[in-house]
Amino acid sequence: MSDVLARLRALQQGDLPTHGGQTLAYVYDSGLAEADEIGRRALAQYGATNGLDPTAFPSLRTLENELVAWAARLLQGDGAVGTVTSGGTESILLAVQAARDAATVSGHAGGQQPSMVLPSTAHAAFHKAAHYFGVRAVMVDVDPVTFQADPAAMAAACDDTTVLVVASAPSYAHGVVDPIPELAQLAAERGIRCHVDACIGGWVLPYLRADGVDVAPFDFAVPGVTSISVDLHKYAYTPKGASILLHRTPALRRPQYFAHADWPGYTMLNSTTQSTKSGAPLAAAWAVVHHIGDEGYQRLARTSYDATLRLAEAAAKVEGLTVLARPATTLLALRSDERADVFTIADELTALGWFVQPQLSFRDQPASLHLSMSAATAAGLDDLIAALTQAVAAAQAAGPVQIAPELAEAAKALDPALLDDDAFDGLLQLAGLGTGETLPDRMAPVNALLDVAPPRLREALLIAFLDRLMRPA
Ligand SMILES: *Cc1c(COP(=O)(O)O)cnc(C)c1O
Repeated sequence: MSDVLARLRALQQGDLPTHGGQTLAYVYDSGLAEADEIGRRALAQYGATNGLDPTAFPSLRTLENELVAWAARLLQGDGAVGTVTSGGTESILLAVQAARDAATVSGHAGGQQPSMVLPSTAHAAFHKAAHYFGVRAVMVDVDPVTFQADPAAMAAACDDTTVLVVASAPSYAHGVVDPIPELAQLAAERGIRCHVDACIGGWVLPYLRADGVDVAPFDFAVPGVTSISVDLHKYAYTPKGASILLHRTPALRRPQYFAHADWPGYTMLNSTTQSTKSGAPLAAAWAVVHHIGDEGYQRLARTSYDATLRLAEAAAKVEGLTVLARPATTLLALRSDERADVFTIADELTALGWFVQPQLSFRDQPASLHLSMSAATAAGLDDLIAALTQAVAAAQAAGPVQIAPELAEAAKALDPALLDDDAFDGLLQLAGLGTGETLPDRMAPVNALLDVAPPRLREALLIAFLDRLMRPA
């Protein structure tokens, strides 16, 4: 037994560190060892349970209702109901599916293909939902200076096929909160649902508000907001696999539920996309949330928010770096001037032990870096600032990765739909992603090449890459 666990530990040596605060995306570290231990134990205790049927495991029903009540209280949803899901994406999928099906039943879209109106900064999960559920995504440009959704443009984009208006609190890429009162109002005036994606901010903003920070209105206190997603496995610092989708009323939630009784097996009754599902992430989330508690979260939110503001201030003083927007919560987006590319800065930071996330250029916005500040990162903030300063200097000394102009031109002209497997193999080699066996040490050349490709080609390349990466040895 210890042998296989030792092998797991050995394999994990190659992973990003999940603790210590040096990983500024993917993982969130409270820095509270006891909270982690409680989460791990609850996971183990509930690993074999099945959330398929809350009457078979009544404890799961209790845990879920208590967590939903906690979230509804935080997000000022008196009378709100909800569901614990596996993550932000599943919460968003279900919000879109429920909006689509409610509109289909009511004939809202008049038999035409339903659509949703979303700011261009909305999370990619909405596009996944559009793809899965046949809902047309109508993307609306955000304000070019503040990166916030533009209510007038969003209103103009609504028509009688619109089943959902989307807003973020805050957006992942820029960390800004959309003008939610205006967006929710324009949705309500048209009888359209309005989803607030608070996946990453929903467990932070209420605690900052309680701590005296001036927080823009974003939750159920805003008339017209019909659903909110909030992830537990981000800033509630719970083990992965837990998010909450809240609906303002039970009636709004109803189309999310699925039952099937017309087959020879058990009556299937599901609240989420999963059917059999582990009770472990739910139990672990319940345990961690109750262990940390409101006071603990208020402290953690304040710690990571203050650290984010301090980091933003320090980054703004680094020659060549720009802070894209004043952080509304714990997210920071940075851009470099032409002396360096952000991909090289990210690689230099990796070499110094800090992981930050590159964000490719989008339309006329250059590439940027994303940093999600965990409470545990605050303790090492001075080291992070020193590393960032050093990484920028090194990246400026190296200069940006140069992509041959003819290659960039060729990339723009390629139609991914016309490429076969051999062509993709060739392109992946060119991009330094050839074998799929080992990843390159430095990602800057890969990212720089992806960055000159149009989004559809990027997507096709990434899928081809994943297809080769995920094959049994
Ligand atoms: C993380 C995130 C999501 C997606 O959540 P997953 O848990 O990764 O599926 C959606 N929206 C926002 C704003 C997020 O930060």
